[in-house]
Amino acid sequence: MAPMTRYRNIVILTGAGVSAESGIDTFRSAGGLWEQHRVEDVATPEGFARDPDLVLRFYDMRRVAIQTKVPNAAHEALARLDREWAGRSGGGEVLIVTQNVDDLHERAGALNVLHMHGEHLTVWCTACDARHRWTGPLIERPPCPACAAPSLRPDVVWFGEVPYRMDEITEALARADLFVSIGTSGAVYPAAGFVRLARELGADTLELNLERSQGSAWFDETRLGAASVLVPQWVGEVLGD
Ligand code: NAD
Repeated sequence: MAPMTRYRNIVILTGAGVSAESGIDTFRSAGGLWEQHRVEDVATPEGFARDPDLVLRFYDMRRVAIQTKVPNAAHEALARLDREWAGRSGGGEVLIVTQNVDDLHERAGALNVLHMHGEHLTVWCTACDARHRWTGPLIERPPCPACAAPSLRPDVVWFGEVPYRMDEITEALARADLFVSIGTSGAVYPAAGFVRLARELGADTLELNLERSQGSAWFDETRLGAASVLVPQWVGEVLGD
């Protein structure tokens, strides 16, 4: 790979692995079950239509749980890079595109975070299309603060739904000199395809993960290990510590 000083614009894709050491389960950690549930039951529009109470309760529990978790060294290092990179001579933009629906990047102090799969701490009103910050439960069908309809659902992109802000992500990938993928299995599209797109558009590509991801062959360099170790090391290299 090129020396770090050659890079201006960096796009970082993060997945569940970056939050694993904060005590949040990854998606595929327990044999296809996610927190004891089948993905089809709790992370698809069909599952929600079939059993809305099960889905609302599941997300209510996760909304409570993530508020008890704290950012780890990987979130802290990425927040530092985000804050310090633009001020460097020759530094450009950093964009953290996360598949995670927790808020640990933000709580670590990162400013440029794009939640392509939505967020646990916002809700979406399917009646009026408004989104609201939300920390409480949904199981009792509270009214939407904007239109009063009892139509709030988790603001989480389920399988079969279109991820958020894809145009912005594609534009950022086109401007990127470096694409870094951290703690993601490379199994969920379209995020899994970003590495190929970034390469085609001219970026160098780096993967930091516990094990090789499914798209590992597309990366110029792979470093294997825990995010809490690899990410601070890499950020230190980029910032010239
Ligand atoms: P995934 O579970 O499919 O993959 C996680 C990857 O992280 C695996 O490759 C694993 O080897 C790696 N990993 C595990 N622990 C790690 C560590 N300590 N350091 C570095 N790497 C580690 O998750 P994904 O690729 O993010 O995609 C699946 C979906 O999961 C996304 O749609 C996302 O919305 C959802 N999800 C989000 C959260 C969250 O918000 N924290 C948690 C679970 C699932």
